[in-house]
Amino acid sequence: MSDQSIVVIGAGASGLMAAIWASGAAGRRVVLLEGTRDGGRKILISGGGRCNVLPSASAPERFVTESSPHTLRHILRAWPLDEQVRFFEEDLGLRLVLEPETGKLFPEGNKASEVRERLLSLARLRGAELRFGVRVADLGPSGSGWGLVLADGSEMSAARVVLASGGLSVPATGSDGWGFEIARRLGHTVRRTYPALTPLTAEPAVHAHLAGVSLPVTLEAPAGKRKTVAHGGFLFTHKGYSGPAVLDISHTAVRSLLHVGARQEIYVRWTDLDGPSWEGQILRHRGPIEGLIARHLPTRLAETLCREAGVGPEVVGAQLRRDLRLRLVGLLTRYPLPWTGDEGYAKAEVTGGGVDLAEVHPRTLESRIHPGLHFCGEVLDAFGPIGGHNFQWAWATGRSAGLAAGTGESA
Ligand SMILES: Cc1cc2nc3c(=O)[nH]c(=O)nc-3n(C[C@H](O)[C@H](O)[C@H](O)COP(=O)(O)OP(=O)(O)OC[C@H]3O[C@@H](n4cnc5c(N)ncnc54)[C@H](O)[C@@H]3O)c2cc1C
Repeated sequence: MSDQSIVVIGAGASGLMAAIWASGAAGRRVVLLEGTRDGGRKILISGGGRCNVLPSASAPERFVTESSPHTLRHILRAWPLDEQVRFFEEDLGLRLVLEPETGKLFPEGNKASEVRERLLSLARLRGAELRFGVRVADLGPSGSGWGLVLADGSEMSAARVVLASGGLSVPATGSDGWGFEIARRLGHTVRRTYPALTPLTAEPAVHAHLAGVSLPVTLEAPAGKRKTVAHGGFLFTHKGYSGPAVLDISHTAVRSLLHVGARQEIYVRWTDLDGPSWEGQILRHRGPIEGLIARHLPTRLAETLCREAGVGPEVVGAQLRRDLRLRLVGLLTRYPLPWTGDEGYAKAEVTGGGVDLAEVHPRTLESRIHPGLHFCGEVLDAFGPIGGHNFQWAWATGRSAGLAAGTGESA
């Protein structure tokens, strides 16, 4: 292979996008190396097999990074959301449809496999050479370019390399943290990694009897003067808690154990009603209290909360002792979630931490340490909330890295 080649490592969301834009821009050969036999496996399992391709509104302020949030926004802005939507609809021929209740965009056919196939096809059409079942074992500067060692011992060289090898989440999809190791070995700062957007667990599983119960809630994780808030679906599982709201707040829980060594308290507000509204309803209620709560919450959860408050099923609302009423209202509006751990990388949708954003040029995502090496996707220190924001990051960073590698442009 000639030294003028561009090698993209990893055919996930960001690597496929990088290969598409590197090929579009370059007169050079673009080779995409992928360790699994098919690539794009996270795309396939995303959005419950429907692939939530993008959000309908950008929310850079909801992204999480240990690096500079300003740099993160700069990087994300490089490919505005409306242009990304146009790319999917016009270049990939994939009409995106809004799911109004969640604000998520899905392909019209609701098939994640179609998203993957169209990305693969466009990469090929633009001239990229896709090689599957090829794992890169090592990577380092060599002459004026890059030298790669493959898992079978063979070697390759390249003028530029795009590292799109993902993070540590759901290793069965091919991403096992190799990119972090390489980045570290090449002298980059890799911010401490942790599972994010992952279900929480409770040991003992005190709410296992509620497994399958789901409802919309508001979660709050206070931290000094600041707090993280997440609204959305909440699901009781056999092991603990899941659903979009739990996933969105899980990083505060995971980080509290990992970084601080102290468990972060998470409070649940089960309905839109605040304390005074609940108090008023309870005081006016002439029938059993459980029945009133069950008008607003799933019955089994209503029973559980009454039991935890020490309120028997026969107790009539208006006759409830004041201390029990206050305790019940407290559990309804600020319930301390008894989480103890998390389901880790096996279930995490993304990886928190990663290559420090200060060590890449925001426009080209080229390493400030090693010219000719570009990063994109989950390997970088950033992730967004549930709702298509993580693909938005993967597409935006993949395009920036691919374009710059393809044109041979340095910052
Ligand atoms: C269950 C689940 C559902 C999700 N749903 C959504 C959703 O609906 N919307 C959304 O926005 N986000 C979703 N996400 C998150 C989204 O999938 C990721 O943010 C995104 O796929 C990251 O893309 P990436 O290219 O950085 O990494 P990856 O998609 O992980 O791709 C990395 C690729 O690199 C390859 N690779 C790694 N090391 C090597 C090596 N040494 N040599 C060769 N190849 C290598 C891997 O095999 C893999 O194919 C979901 C994630 C999960 C796990």
